[in-house]
Parts: sequence; C-alpha cells; structure tokens
Amino acid sequence: MPRARWPDRLAVAQAHRARSDALRRRRVVERVDGPRVVVDGQPLVSFCSNDYLGLASSLEGAVALQDAAARHGLGSGGSALLGGHHALHAAFEREAAEWLGYERALFFPSGYQANLATLQGLLSPGDLCVQDKLNHACLVDGARLAGAELRRYPHADYAAALRQLQALPEAAAVLATDSVFSMDGDVAPLRELALAATGEHALFVVDEAHGAGVLGPEGRGACAAVGLSARDVPLMVVPLGKAFGGQGALVLGSQALVDHLLQSARPYVFSTAAMPALAAAMSAQLRAIRAEGWRRAKLASLVARFRRGALRHGLPLVDSSTPIQPLLLGGNARALAVARTLEQRGYWVAPIRPPAVPDGKARLRITLTAAHDEAQVDGLVDALAACLDAADAGA
Ligand SMILES: *Cc1c(COP(=O)(O)O)cnc(C)c1O
Repeated sequence: MPRARWPDRLAVAQAHRARSDALRRRRVVERVDGPRVVVDGQPLVSFCSNDYLGLASSLEGAVALQDAAARHGLGSGGSALLGGHHALHAAFEREAAEWLGYERALFFPSGYQANLATLQGLLSPGDLCVQDKLNHACLVDGARLAGAELRRYPHADYAAALRQLQALPEAAAVLATDSVFSMDGDVAPLRELALAATGEHALFVVDEAHGAGVLGPEGRGACAAVGLSARDVPLMVVPLGKAFGGQGALVLGSQALVDHLLQSARPYVFSTAAMPALAAAMSAQLRAIRAEGWRRAKLASLVARFRRGALRHGLPLVDSSTPIQPLLLGGNARALAVARTLEQRGYWVAPIRPPAVPDGKARLRITLTAAHDEAQVDGLVDALAACLDAADAGA
C-alpha cells in the first residue's frame, strides 16, 4: 500500500463527520452582557456558559487584572522554575490553599494542563490509574501520557472502583474522579470512593471543575459539601474557567505532593507560567466566591425553578441538582434540530454529541447561572416544551 495522502485522509474524516451529524463549528460571540449575548449577529439568551456565579463579568476581577497588568506587565517571562514564578502567583496559591485547607497549591494556565501534569507527574508505566467512565477527557489523557495502566469503572460504581484497585494490589495507584460530571451534572459518590482509595492505599484525586464555587460552605466544592477534607482527598484540582469566571487552574495537596509535581510534571516544568495579572484577577474572584453567598443561593433557586417547570412539561430531565441540567435527546440529528429551533426563539443551548458523550446519548446541556433571572428561566422552559413537541411531531 502506498502511503496515505493527507488531503485524502482529511476529506474522508470530514465526510464521515458530516454523515453522522458530528460536524462542529465555532460560533462567534460578539457581545456579552451577563447571559445576554450577540452571536453571529443575533441577540440570544445564553444557557451554555459555565460561568455559574456570573463572575466572568465581575468589575472587581477586571480591575484587578488591569491594575496588575499595568504594574507588573503582561507575560510572566518564563516557566515557573526559570524566572516565571511571581509574587502574585505565590499570593494566590497561598490564599487558595488556605481556603480549601491544603498545605500547598500550584497555579496552572489551564485545567487541562493541570490534570495532565498531575497524572503524568505522579504515575509511571506499571502504575495503576482507576477512573470513572465519564471522567473529563484530560484525566484520561493524563493517565495515557503517564503510560499507566488505565482502568475505567462504570459511571459512579464505587464497588467496581474498589475491585479494580484490588485486582492490581502491588501497583502504585491513583483513583481519580470528577466531583460533578460535566455532561450529566450528577455528583460522584465521593465518600465511598474516598474510603475505597484509603483502604487500598491509592491516592484519591478529585477534579472540582464544576463543584468549586458552586457547592459546599463558602463554595469550597462537592468534597467539602459532604465533609471530606484534605486527609480524605489528598490531591484536588480546581479549574478556574467555570465558577471563577476566569482562566487557569489550581492543584492542591500536601507539601510533599505539590513539591513532587513541581519537580516532575512535564506540562508544568516545560510551559510558560500564566500571566501574573491572571493570578491577581483570580484572587479577586476568590474573594467574591467566599463573600457573596447570595450568588449560590440565587443559583440554587433558579435550578429548582427550572426543574419544577421542566417536570410540569414532562421534559426528559436527568437526576441532577447542580446548575448542569441536561435534557437527553438520543440521536445527534434530534439534538441539533432542537437546538436550532431554540435559537430561532432566542435561546442559545449547546447540543452535546459524541465523543463528548457516549453514542446515542446526545443531549442539550443547559447550564444555569446566578446572572439569569426568573423570566429567562421560565422563557427557556416554555421554549423547550414547544421545540420538543415540534421535533416529535416532525419525526
Ligand atoms: C473544563 C474542565 C477541565 C479543563 O479545564 P480548562 O481550564 O478548561 O482547561 C477539566 N476538568 C473538568 C471536569 C472540566 O469540566
């Protein structure tokens, strides 16, 4: 066989995506005013942002960013180990560690990078990494980058997680899970998983991307909400692109764990440190998360209102009490069609298709934020009911 030609490969892959309604395109967001956005020229109410607390439009955060950039410049100038670690990074790491009750924190430019670094830095070939089947892609990729033996248990099945740990009793092991699952909105059985990990001397790693800021006292996350502390969850990852309304991530752990990552995690060692001003802005966001409990209260009340309305209309809700409220639609074409009709009515909701979710489980991923108001939520529920009726009548 002659070597495949790239133009042919690309065309075949693209044709395959088109046939299975799996083509994606980037929409251009032209203006943002809380949940009111202008997308490709059209004004819409957005229900697809992970800005759960409405802090992405925080004036304090923007001012902190601007002040710090004016005083300290934009770029960090290098990797953290070669001159790129600034006082603003160090201050934010200390504040975050104190907030969550850990000895140390490490600031990363993104959550994806933080999870890659954590698993690659800890694990080597021959080690074991046990993960929930629905974990975020970057946890899976981190275990692969490490060359570890990756075992994935059926979603939320902590007994299966325990069996997978017991099956390789001699390998150094990590048990890793999302706290709140990004496409389903349900919360992992964190207490049971922590017990399994402790009993098997595995390191328990929890990704709080969708829990931090939203759940628990002072928004300390899903682990804190069920009373788990740094002793039960020795390593926590907190991406900052969601409730923090910003960018970057924190990895929190003991002095020994964080020191180990800082020495050995290639995605940390060989990458330019984030802009120092970003750390200052994330400090401001952290202060708002701690102090402004009204944001969590309002969000919880909007989530309850959405679920009441959706139940009244018989919409295909799943069992989620978080701001992630998916409606299961099944096929890619149906999810796309409903999202398109919703958009004509002025609502922007993300259709989620494989590979982000399993085949046949396409859905609308509706996310609520503290910046929505009750009329917007009621309007969405009515529009969803009408669009689903229309889709079913047309099917
Ligand atoms: C968004 C997300 C990440 C990645 O974080 P980024 O900062 O967007 O790279 C990691 N884990 C989970 C569970 C996420 O939802």
